[in-house]
Amino acid sequence: MIQVEHLTKTYGGFTAVDDVSFTCRPGTVTGFLGPNGAGKSTTMRIMAGLTIASSGKATVSGVSYRDIPNPGTQVGVLLDASAQHAGRTGREVLTIGQKTMGLPASRVDEMLDLVSLTDKESKRRVRNYSLGMRQRLGIAHALLGDPKILILDEPANGLDPAGIHWMRSLLREYANRGGTVLLSSHLLHEIQIIADEIIVIGNGRIVAQGTKEELLRGD
Ligand code: ADP
Ligand code: ADP
Repeated sequence: MIQVEHLTKTYGGFTAVDDVSFTCRPGTVTGFLGPNGAGKSTTMRIMAGLTIASSGKATVSGVSYRDIPNPGTQVGVLLDASAQHAGRTGREVLTIGQKTMGLPASRVDEMLDLVSLTDKESKRRVRNYSLGMRQRLGIAHALLGDPKILILDEPANGLDPAGIHWMRSLLREYANRGGTVLLSSHLLHEIQIIADEIIVIGNGRIVAQGTKEELLRGD
């Protein structure tokens, strides 16, 4: 269970996230929908312990991310895949995670397989990956520790249609097995297809939230 309570983040005089509260439940895919600049990434960065909230809090099973022991085995996080680990190979990125989390080395190949990165591709540097490959690597990294919770910022960005289809099935199955998924998108279409619950954010504020059925009825 993810709980965000009265979360606010200001940068100087600018409020990027404004009193945001929501809950994500096990067995559910929650879609975080809003235009670019709405405050989705900032909220998710706070949830992942990478940005400090100005006030309010985000907890996972009752604790802040930074207080979770071996966090990668509890919460899988994908944030801005375009920016990460450019100088390392995909295999190195996963191996670092594997060692940090104390997982068997075989887990790296299992994850490369899952996201369809070939052995040859895994030995290239991430800076030479397409955005779609980076997203696949990011998803592999998020799933590496077999966490019960996933926080994914724009995971569909850069994936081709087959990749998007693959990602949707993966997340659906993950939620069906009891996992908790929060994923963001600026595309209504994407969220409509994939999410059970929808949170709509604009200018840092929640403007609507509810089940997909509730929101699409226009309540
Ligand atoms: P989204 O993920 O919905 O596109 P962001 O959370 O990235 O939105 O950004 C929300 C707002 O906060 C934007 O106006 C953005 O420019 C601003 N912002 C984000 N990070 C910072 C930062 N480190 N310093 C100043 N402003 C920021
Ligand atoms: P903080 O550490 O201040 O909580 P972040 O870790 O999100 O915030 O900051 C990431 C970097 O992005 C910072 O170096 C910040 O200065 C920079 N940045 C500045 N303005 C923006 C903006 N408008 N959108 C996104 N990032 C920004």
